Amino acid sequence: MTKESNMAILPLVIAPDERLNTPSEPVKVVDDSIRKLLDDMLDTMYANDGIGLAAVQVGVHKRCIVVDLAVRDGGRDPIKFINPEIIRKSDETHVFQEGCLSFPDQYSDVIRPSSVTVRYLNERGEQKEIEASELLATCLQHEMDHLDGLLFVDRLSRLKRDMLLRKLAKQRRDAV
Ligand code: ZN
Repeated sequence: MTKESNMAILPLVIAPDERLNTPSEPVKVVDDSIRKLLDDMLDTMYANDGIGLAAVQVGVHKRCIVVDLAVRDGGRDPIKFINPEIIRKSDETHVFQEGCLSFPDQYSDVIRPSSVTVRYLNERGEQKEIEASELLATCLQHEMDHLDGLLFVDRLSRLKRDMLLRKLAKQRRDAV
């Protein structure tokens, strides 16, 4: 079997969509179906030029996320997270301009803790911890918010959020 025949690019859930506001369930058993889901999520993320993706964004309410910051430099260095949780976060905060594959072409500055420690299971079901700072810290927090049904626009002021949602609605109307 070639690599290509295994690839599955899944349709993205685009906001506004109830599914994006629904919390995801913990994974009970890390099996082949979860590993396949994570691989499909990566294929979908790469195909859409993303650096992070949560399962809910392909319509699956399981606590799985994938992240790959290396794609920005043309490389590949994916990390797969199952049941991730933040066990430490800094008081210090930072600001990054965030985007989201569920909000095409919408970007906004978001303030978040500048470093976090995340505990998770890898695809073999082993417990791992990662200390993240800079963009990785923001990316992980953004994706983990998805698992709780939270979107980056929920972290904005009401004014900024309304502006962004109006732009998105207009974009959708124009696309029809
Ligand atoms: Zn997102």
